[in-house]
Amino acid sequence: MSQSLATVAYLGAAILFILSLGGLSNPETSRRGNLFGMIGMALAVLATVFGPRVSPSGIAWIVGALAIGGGIGLYAAKVVKMTQMPELVALMHSLVGLAACLVGFASYVDTSIQLEGVEKTIHEVEIYVGILIGAVTFSGSLIAFGKLNGKIGGKPLLLPGRHWLNLAALMIVIWFGREFLRAETVEQGMVPMVVMTVIALLFGIHMVMAIGGADMPVVVSMLNSYSGWAAAATGFMLSNDLLIVTGALVGSSGAILSYIMCNAMNRNFLSVIAGGFGSGAGTPAKKGDAAKPQGEAVPASSAETAELLRDAKSVIIVPGYGMAVAQAQHTVYEITKTLREKGINVRFAIHPVAGRMPGHMNVLLAEAKVPYDIVMEMDEINEDFPDADVAMVIGANDIVNPSALEDPASPIAGMPVLEVWKAKTSIVMKRSMASGYAGVDNPLFYKENNRMLFGDAKKMLDEVLLALKS
Ligand code: NDP
Repeated sequence: MSQSLATVAYLGAAILFILSLGGLSNPETSRRGNLFGMIGMALAVLATVFGPRVSPSGIAWIVGALAIGGGIGLYAAKVVKMTQMPELVALMHSLVGLAACLVGFASYVDTSIQLEGVEKTIHEVEIYVGILIGAVTFSGSLIAFGKLNGKIGGKPLLLPGRHWLNLAALMIVIWFGREFLRAETVEQGMVPMVVMTVIALLFGIHMVMAIGGADMPVVVSMLNSYSGWAAAATGFMLSNDLLIVTGALVGSSGAILSYIMCNAMNRNFLSVIAGGFGSGAGTPAKKGDAAKPQGEAVPASSAETAELLRDAKSVIIVPGYGMAVAQAQHTVYEITKTLREKGINVRFAIHPVAGRMPGHMNVLLAEAKVPYDIVMEMDEINEDFPDADVAMVIGANDIVNPSALEDPASPIAGMPVLEVWKAKTSIVMKRSMASGYAGVDNPLFYKENNRMLFGDAKKMLDEVLLALKS
């Protein structure tokens, strides 16, 4: 393939990626968005493999690597459960970071690249910065993976003087950057580069370890953004325009998502970027008065729940992580259909950080074919709870915790939540009185107008559906 044909193919792929992002912004066009992305990626891979920069002898290597990588990817996509999706995404971010590091080291030792003067300096800066971002993304994403699958505890690790430690690490990285640029041979440059890589890896671990459970959504989207910048840095190192454009698209859309998540959690975007996560709202739980139980948690049966639903005119359903674990979305849809056939107004309230990844609940509800027009964002529906007869909380906890609004000492203080307790009756469906991801007690369970329907969400909803139909 000639250079000009490869450039046209890259341009086409870049346009398809932009159309893909546009499509993904709305559930109704998201399928098309995915399709654009897949075609764009196929085009990009083909144009790269058969492009002018790959020698025919290299193609066999690439095809072999594609077969192995593609096979692993296909297998992982097939076996991964919806609840493990956030961990898988974190793991994939780590691979982007690792790739940026490896490409950086390979570009540095590549003797076929002979540059002089300013060009050489620019190339070395690209390598240094690329490895720096890649290493932070790699180790940070691995820790996020551990935190999301529960292998690493949600409690923030707050080392004494951690901001000073971070500042010292930054200064050392800058100093070694200077040494790296001054090095006259590859051997001389290797030492500062390796030192910087180790510091960046430790920084990535420290950054994510210092973040409390409640702030994890911001971290997930920030690492998403970092992985984009790592890819863009790789593009600079390899002088690959498409990788630069794609990386910048992922990096900037991830940054916008982080901003949206910060707003959703009432966290300051700038303090997050400056590494202020885990302070303030992220400090370990110090329970204030509002977090203490203020009454009895009243259990309800599935028959009573069905009764409450049947008598209601307006029902708001709040799905959370537990719905994903129980895979209860299809039964939720059946219940919604049954209630709507009885003329009951049913709507869904989606909190921006519900579940374990942005858009988690929307994906599950779309999979179960719940109509989009009854799925509302938090801001659209929060004021309607006082007019609702029943608010049914399915496996959600932190996102409906009143202590976020009532208890300034709560670790989730200030986070906007779905105010389900303002409905005439709220029903919380979960297996026990255990806390959610942020590890905070929930005073909602003890409110007078709240009922607890204990059990696995799928099992309880099946019983409720049966009772509704009988
Ligand atoms: P939570 O983690 O607060 O609560 C989920 C609840 O579901 C648990 O209390 C659990 O209670 C219950 N549950 C678990 N399994 C089942 C089951 N099989 N049947 C019924 N209930 C079940 O989830 P929320 O969605 O309310 O809040 C999301 C939390 O995750 C927030 O703290 C958010 O910050 C965090 N987070 C969000 C991310 C995102 O991007 N959306 C990323 C990372 C973290 P029990 O054990 O008693 O059943």
